[in-house]
Amino acid sequence: MNTIQLLTQLDDLSFDNHFIRDLPCDTEPHNYPRQVFAACYSPVLPTKVVKPQRVAVSSEVAELLDLSPELCSSEDFTQVFAGNRLSKGMESYALCYGGHQFGHWAGQLGDGRAINLGEIINSKGERWALQLKGAGPTPYSRTADGLAVLRSSIREFLCSEAMHHLGVPTTRALSLTLTGESVIRDMFYNGNRKAEPGAVVCRVAPSFTRFGSFQLLTARRDLALLKQLADHTIRTHHPHLGEPSVSVYVAWFTEICQKTAEMIVHWQRVGFVHGVMNTDNMSILGLTIDYGPYGWLENYDPNWTPNTTDAEHRRYRFGNQAEIAFWNLGQLANALYPLIEQVEALQEALNIYTATFEQGWQAMMANKLGLRCYQPETDESLFSDLIALLQRVETDMTVFYRQLAMISRLAQDHDETLMLPLMSAYYVPEQLSAEYKTHLLTWLNRYIKRVQQDNRSDEERRTAMHAVNPNYVLRNYLAQLAIDKAEAGDFTMIDELLDCLRRPYDEQPDYVAFAEKRPDWARQRAGCSMLSCSS
Ligand code: AMP
Ligand code: MG
Repeated sequence: MNTIQLLTQLDDLSFDNHFIRDLPCDTEPHNYPRQVFAACYSPVLPTKVVKPQRVAVSSEVAELLDLSPELCSSEDFTQVFAGNRLSKGMESYALCYGGHQFGHWAGQLGDGRAINLGEIINSKGERWALQLKGAGPTPYSRTADGLAVLRSSIREFLCSEAMHHLGVPTTRALSLTLTGESVIRDMFYNGNRKAEPGAVVCRVAPSFTRFGSFQLLTARRDLALLKQLADHTIRTHHPHLGEPSVSVYVAWFTEICQKTAEMIVHWQRVGFVHGVMNTDNMSILGLTIDYGPYGWLENYDPNWTPNTTDAEHRRYRFGNQAEIAFWNLGQLANALYPLIEQVEALQEALNIYTATFEQGWQAMMANKLGLRCYQPETDESLFSDLIALLQRVETDMTVFYRQLAMISRLAQDHDETLMLPLMSAYYVPEQLSAEYKTHLLTWLNRYIKRVQQDNRSDEERRTAMHAVNPNYVLRNYLAQLAIDKAEAGDFTMIDELLDCLRRPYDEQPDYVAFAEKRPDWARQRAGCSMLSCSS
């Protein structure tokens, strides 16, 4: 077995800054807000900070980048990932892109507070782009400061890693660093401005290109650059599709549709609500990107959105995410049209999105219920009746599916005792009326019958269910508790959550409390139920 030599110095990282080599650069060297034309990025340096302090590091991401544990605890690591020094091979830049925000074309957006450090090639030959979020203003900052506060940085850091361990495609997070400086924020947009601790997260992904990167070029009729960016993306990230041509563009868009569908199926499986599915927040690689006012379903409610900015129309609610991804892909299809000029081919790819999502959703639901595969005659109504039941009373989604695995196919009692394993999922036991119980029991008996048909032992079914129904997710109130402690100078809960969420499908005796449903005090508390975009 080859043992990989871990790096002890950041200057030994091997950079290959292909994106900026291959694509045109903004010619204006100065850093002030502006429209940037005929370029995919602007050179910009991170802003230096007074007193950086390392808060947390993901050891798995460090390993991806071949960084040794000693290196990660070094002063140089803290300085570099707070933006105070560029290590050898780093070249910093902000990306230019546009996007539809809440359904409306917003024109140029760009990396307003993200600064890329370049792309490394690791010892396995993989390409990973590094990006600091919150490292100061860029030409895309518009009227904002380019900074990020500790609370939103903790949320992004922990959720990126939690999603990865849940098996959901996502950008990753290497590090979380305090800047030692304060940032002024009006958390609820109600005139109460407050100084908060500033922080920087180092994000890691094969690419940070978004749907909006292509949209902006088409909106400006910069079709030569549109082609250049598409060709770059295909050659770098989809080489298996072959040299760019019209048919390769179609195959590429089809792949984007499939990957996006798969990502949304995962979100629906684990109860994740992105909260701001604007087209600038949609990764061209089908990764979950830009963790802002996201949230996790506690009581199963498809109408729920964590984002206070979206509270009225609920465009980005849990139950609408598949629809919105489709709409966003439609916008990307419009942007790629000049390269393809075939409406039917684009429509066909969008149909593949719908089919991939539907089949993926059915298979995912079958898996959640421990069934070998989806059988439409029985399962269509079995699933829809369950989903209706979950909404009738406040039912914790995560606990419910986890506990459903405890129902035995050999159950003799078909009365209320059958429900006992599920009781820990209910938030308001008074809601369990006789009528509700009758419906639930009827459903459970149908479920048992279906499971019996499947001819799988209870143990085999339980193992299968526990591999797709997490025991641990980053519950909104858990992230908030970690934030409260961190703001008081105690970072231990960040590490505890990071550690626990590494094995979300296991029973972990040390972290039993993290698997429980949301406590009552957290029901209405800010940060535990609703979040604003302020970050
Ligand atoms: P979001 O939807 O939160 O990803 O952000 C939308 C746009 O606003 C992106 O172009 C961000 O880079 C930019 N943005 C958000 N917060 C800030 C900030 N504090 N400073 C500068 N730009 C920001
Ligand atoms: Mg964004």
